[in-house]
Order: sequence, then structure tokens, then C-alpha cells
Amino acid sequence: MILTDTHTHQYYETDPVKRETLMQRCLASGIERLFLPNVDSSSIELVMSQAKTFPDNCFAMLGLHPCDVKASWQDELSAIGRAIPQHKIYAIGEIGIDLYWDKTFLKEQMEAFKMQIAWAKKLKLPIVIHCRDAFDEVYAVLQQEQDEDLRGIFHCFTGTLEQAQKVIALGFYLGIGGVVTYKNAGLDKIVQQIDIKHLVLETDSPYLTPVPHRGKPNESSYLIYVAQKVADLHQISLETVAATTTENSKIVFGV
Ligand SMILES: [Zn+2]
Repeated sequence: MILTDTHTHQYYETDPVKRETLMQRCLASGIERLFLPNVDSSSIELVMSQAKTFPDNCFAMLGLHPCDVKASWQDELSAIGRAIPQHKIYAIGEIGIDLYWDKTFLKEQMEAFKMQIAWAKKLKLPIVIHCRDAFDEVYAVLQQEQDEDLRGIFHCFTGTLEQAQKVIALGFYLGIGGVVTYKNAGLDKIVQQIDIKHLVLETDSPYLTPVPHRGKPNESSYLIYVAQKVADLHQISLETVAATTTENSKIVFGV
């Protein structure tokens, strides 16, 4: 059984011994593939060092997170743009729009999102989207930009069934994480109604820790709880969830 964490910031752990321990815990639970989204210029080296340390298990992506689109966003974007040709990456991410924390830079967030979509198209890479309190804005951009090259993942999907269907109709995958294990979040009922051929799994570690470890920092080895929950909701085996969602991740990332 091979599970794929399509979205983890495990690279924030920089202690080599702890990094190795985290990776060993993943491998012990069958979590053999970890995709690492960048957030800003200062995390490029963190992402790349983790990917270099575990070349068989960790895969890098680069992008500017919408929460990091602030006054100096153009400098940030050009630093990331310069780094991209120097590294092997598997997606542009995480990118998108976040209106939960701050609406000040909405215009700039939209612009940065579109510019990075253009990079992805040029490089024939998928995009990994961060969308919080901004579904309509993100969806409008995707509709405009849709073409045969644009594809990717809606990371940490927590929307409605109707929104899920819109995402699927665009050919995107839904990234399902720890929120599916939260009793009152309602995501379980949505996931139950979606064919797993449209799903990929993620932890978003160190955030959004699944039950039964909710309240503690998240780590990629906890992906097993997300996978088990999806298996329970669909009344299928954990092995089937692992095989299908890993296959989906291979289609998206090409690896
Ligand atoms: Zn993230």
C-alpha cells in the first residue's frame, strides 16, 4: 500500500534527526510520497533541502502563497520566478486567493495568481490552489484561464457539493485533509457523495491535524487517518483508497 500526501509543509522541521524520524514514521504507515508546496522566497531552500534529502519520497513545488502577497509581492514573485528554472519541480504551488485573513491585497492576489498560472501553462505543470473564503474569485480566474494545459488540485477543499462539482468539471482534483475527520465540519457528507476518482489526500502538516491527534501539530504520517476516514465514508478498503488516490496524484504530478 502506497499513500501520497499531496500537500505537506513537513520541511518546516529543519533538525536533520527529527526530519529523519518524521520520514521514518511516514514510511512505516505506507506514506511514501510527499509533495511539498512552497509559500514564499524564504521557504524555497527549506523545500529544496527536504526534496534533496529524500529524493525518492519528497517532491518539490514552488509558488507564492496568497497570504504572502503583500506590499513587496512583486519582489517575492520575481525571486520565486528566478528559482524555478534552477530546480526540479512538479507543480506551481501553493497559489490562489485568501480573503479570510486580509482583503487588502485582493487585486494583487488576483494578479499574482494569474501570473503564476501563466508560468504553469508555459512549463506544462499543474497548479496547487489555496482558496479560503474566495471560491467565487478563484473559480472566475480558472474559468477565464481554462485550456487544455491547465490542471491541478484544489488543496484543502472544504466547500459545498455544488462547488466540488464545479471544481471537478474544470478537471481539477479535490485535496482532502484532516477536516474530513472533524465531526461538525460537514465535509464528511460531501466527500461521501464524490467518486474517489476525483480525490487526492493531504495533511497540510503542520496544520489541520486529523482526529485522533487534533490539537497537536500535524505530520505527514497522520495521512493514514484521513485515508481511513475516506475508506469508511465510501465503505471500501484502505488499500483501494491508497491505490486510487496515489494513482490520481501520479496523473496530476506526472510522477
Ligand atoms: Zn499549505
